[in-house]
Amino acid sequence: MAMTEVRIEAQDFSRFEDTLGVEQMKRFRETALLAREAFAGRTIWNVNSTARGGGVAEMLQVILAYARGAGIDARWMVMDADPEFFRITKRLHNGFHGAAGDGGDLGERERGHYEQVTGQASGELLAHTRPGDVVILHDPQTAGMVAQLEGTGRHLVWRSHICYDDGDELSRRSGDFVRPYLDAADAFVFSRASYVPPWLEDRIVEIIAPSIDPFSAKNQELSDEVVRSILVGTGLLGDGDAALTPPVFRRRDGSPGRVDRFADILRTGPPTPIDAPLIVQVSRWDDLKDMQGVMTAFAEQVDPVHGAHLLLAGPNVTSVTDDPEGADVLAECQTLFRSLSQEARSRIAVACLPMSDLEENAAIVNAIQRHASIVVQKSLAEGFGLTVAEAMWKARPMVASNVGGIGDQIEHGTSGILLRDPRDAQEFGDAINSLLEDPDTAACLGVAARERVRQRFLSDRHLEQYATLIGRLI
Ligand code: UDP
Repeated sequence: MAMTEVRIEAQDFSRFEDTLGVEQMKRFRETALLAREAFAGRTIWNVNSTARGGGVAEMLQVILAYARGAGIDARWMVMDADPEFFRITKRLHNGFHGAAGDGGDLGERERGHYEQVTGQASGELLAHTRPGDVVILHDPQTAGMVAQLEGTGRHLVWRSHICYDDGDELSRRSGDFVRPYLDAADAFVFSRASYVPPWLEDRIVEIIAPSIDPFSAKNQELSDEVVRSILVGTGLLGDGDAALTPPVFRRRDGSPGRVDRFADILRTGPPTPIDAPLIVQVSRWDDLKDMQGVMTAFAEQVDPVHGAHLLLAGPNVTSVTDDPEGADVLAECQTLFRSLSQEARSRIAVACLPMSDLEENAAIVNAIQRHASIVVQKSLAEGFGLTVAEAMWKARPMVASNVGGIGDQIEHGTSGILLRDPRDAQEFGDAINSLLEDPDTAACLGVAARERVRQRFLSDRHLEQYATLIGRLI
């Protein structure tokens, strides 16, 4: 089976009332009403290649639930494929980010396999959809489907969450691979204006930045007691009286959830003490997230006098099906950890978070981000960087590379700190040390960060932009 539908429960948007304020809320309601009338009788399909792990899956869950709540028949299909297909698409992904990845080919053999898998997925999608429906295809994994669905009466949108062509040879190679399929799209969506390739000049192109849901298990308010209880219960923090409060959160359907599983943690000695300043990076195990670089820079540049600890947290590596490199990157992190001095190791933990219940996983990430003194995202390349918006919403001071969409989120010195050179360990260490020494400034950055997300990166803006685009197409 090449395609599986992810069922999404409708979510009522009225819960945003207190968060958005009267004007923003009124605008949203008007757009939703117009969209419901205009889209009546049509389904808006989204297609990507994983239901779990990574920013696209994270966002689709949220956006589709609110769209359904507004009375729009928005749905999600995930294409399944063999490991060879995902090796090819990971190569495309790495290439778009200017990275060599596994160094493999993108020649005729790869193209043949790619077309065979996307062709099968297109056939299955056709069986589910009707002429007049809107099909939004996400990222290079689905680009082939654009060509294969041409002439079938579906309105086709290709949404790229990463830079299409930043001018270097590797990204051009990825671009050359997918470009022949894309001409048939009726519209294109990119996360940033600078990601749009010049050959789309005369086409319908919309710039839609991603967003986060303030009520999801990932971002909902959690009391300090619950945060500690979750972190002690998963084994990430040392004891205290914290375990007395139940580690609970609210699920998307309104029912109570509870964190019961343990994280799989590499460290030496006892868990991080509750009162130690904690530096955190949460990411997939991907070279471009530079977990190894964070570890080295922390060990070498962050002054032990502050007593800070580092937590590198990512998903359990068997769980993200479209990311075949995760296990290798995690193994490299573990090897690097073992090569550090005893002193450095005593302040670092490398954790894989349980993924069998995605909302439980999200609640753990939520607790980690909330407990952090500083959240870092030292990526070497980034599409948007949802982890940045997530931490900013929790009013955390951020230290992050000025790559991709991170620069759209953080205004340097106001709502976080942007690193000019993501590979410069000293710049990273200096930023962390200065925030550890000056908690007042750190707190101010956090407050401004939350406000920035409230205004620009919540679901209302995202849905309104989609509604406008789809209205234009149909
Ligand atoms: N994430 C998660 N659990 C993990 C690691 C990451 O839920 O163990 C989430 C993270 O919170 C964020 C998403 O995965 O919502 C990653 O999105 P981002 O845009 O930062 O990067 P991507 O993985 O798409 O490159």
